[in-house]
Formats: sequence, C-alpha cells, structure tokens
Amino acid sequence: MVLEKGVDQKATIFPPGWKFIANEKDAQKFLSDLVDSPTDLFRVRSSLSASDLNKLMSRCYSIDPKKSGVDVNSVLAPFLSNRQKDLLKTFPPYFIIVPKELYESLGKATKGSNTGALATYNDVHPDLIGLMLGFKSNVVFLREDYFQEFRFNPNTMRTLLSHESLHYISEASRPGGVEVPHFINEGITEYLALLGSLRSGESIVKNSGIYPIETMTAYVLSKVAGEDELTKAYFSGDFSRIRATVDRLGGFGSWETLTAPIDYKNTNDTKERRALLRSLLAKKSDFTTLAEAASILGK
Ligand SMILES: [Zn+2]
Repeated sequence: MVLEKGVDQKATIFPPGWKFIANEKDAQKFLSDLVDSPTDLFRVRSSLSASDLNKLMSRCYSIDPKKSGVDVNSVLAPFLSNRQKDLLKTFPPYFIIVPKELYESLGKATKGSNTGALATYNDVHPDLIGLMLGFKSNVVFLREDYFQEFRFNPNTMRTLLSHESLHYISEASRPGGVEVPHFINEGITEYLALLGSLRSGESIVKNSGIYPIETMTAYVLSKVAGEDELTKAYFSGDFSRIRATVDRLGGFGSWETLTAPIDYKNTNDTKERRALLRSLLAKKSDFTTLAEAASILGK
C-alpha cells in the first residue's frame, strides 16, 4: 500500500488540534480527565457514584501487547506508509483495561458506543469533548471481563489489538472532519487486521466473529477495486473512486446499498447484500471464480 510520496503528509497525519499521548502515565491521566471532564461528568456519573468511580478508576491498568507475544506493528506494516509507521512508534496506541462498569459508562461518552464490544478505540465524540478540547486520542479501552477470557488466546489478541490500532492510525491519517460510513469502516478495519495477521506469518487466522458481513464486503471491495485502492481510500477517507467502480459494476445505487447500516435481524437485508456481493465478484472474473465467491460468501 502506497500513499503518495513527496507530498507533505504531516498535515494529514497530524491534523491540527489532535492530541496524542506520549506515555502510559499520560494515558492513565487522560482516562481520569475523561471521567472528570465537566461535560462527561454528568453522563458518566449518571449511573455511578463518585466513590464507585474512584474505585473503578483504581482498577484500570494498561497492557503492553508485546509482553503477550503480539506485535501489532508488524501485523500492520504491509499497509502503512513510513510516516504512519513513525507515528505508531512515536505515539503508540495505549491499551487500557477498564472494569466493565466503567467501560459501559465511558461507552456513553464515546462515539458509536457499543458497550457489548470487547474493545473500543476512544474516538472522542466530536459534539462533546471534541468540540471543547478538539482532540482525539491514541487510547483503546478493553473491557476487563472479556479481556480475562481472551488474554491467553494470541490469535484473538492479535486481531483485536490490530483492529483497534487500525482505527487509531486511520483516524489520525484522515483529514479532520472526514467521516467514513460505520459499516465500511468496521469491515475494512477487520479485514486488514485479518489480512495483516496472515501476512505476518499466522497460519490460523479466525475472524473474531465481529462484523461478518462488513468484513466480507471489505474483501469483495478489495477484489473489485484492488487492495491498494481500498487501503488508500481507508486511510484518506476518500471512497469516490471505489464508489464509482461499485456503481459501474453493480448498477447505480449499489454503493448506497453496501454502505448503509445493516439490520442484522432482517434476513432479507443480509440476503440482498450477499447477492450484490456475489454479482460484483462475478463481474470481476479476472480476479476470482464463482466457486471461490460461493465458498467465501456462503450459499
Ligand atoms: Zn472497530
């Protein structure tokens, strides 16, 4: 994956007003500031007393993935420019283990909150703290009870930590204010985390089970538009070329269909998406076969 060389990427890698955290101590402080910040005080404390919060805060700690044998940087290396690699070295993501109760409270203060998720990149809500302080962070929260379950499973750890690190590095790479549809963002994030794990020598890579249709969609987009194009769009937030390709191959409106929020309970939604994905793959006969498509997308 190659971002244009020769242009000053610093401006896009470090959007003005963004704050990255330089050490674990500051990451811990960031967390306590988040809890104590006036805007979120109301939200976070709506369900917790101050003394409960203090107790929960004292149970937070950060982990070093390398100590668990997970090298996130080498998983992500195939997709990153040199500047992005430098950013990961200078401002690595901080993985903070957060007790369930605090995780759920913080979820309310972060964007796209999904308190059932194993982990969440702390994408600070632009309408709340983001507006007040104008920054995002390199902090990832991991839910303590889930973490205790998967901490001894290197495959899950590798995919999960790579997934969250990709959220951080892609947010840091996109120009300020650029939003990528949630469905597409999660799918490509998971797809690249899996692909990177395979390329870093993992023989067994299992989808962690999150975002299955999203991940399939990302796979098909990489076949249809090319992996470089997909990665470039992911890091820049500019999907116009891929959108044009998808609409040309699948018919006008296909991109809208593929990127709309999915209703998992509606089996027709899932069926329609699978059919569209299959037809897109079939039109790229130089890339793949229908048998391959069927094996990947299911019957
Ligand atoms: Zn995610």
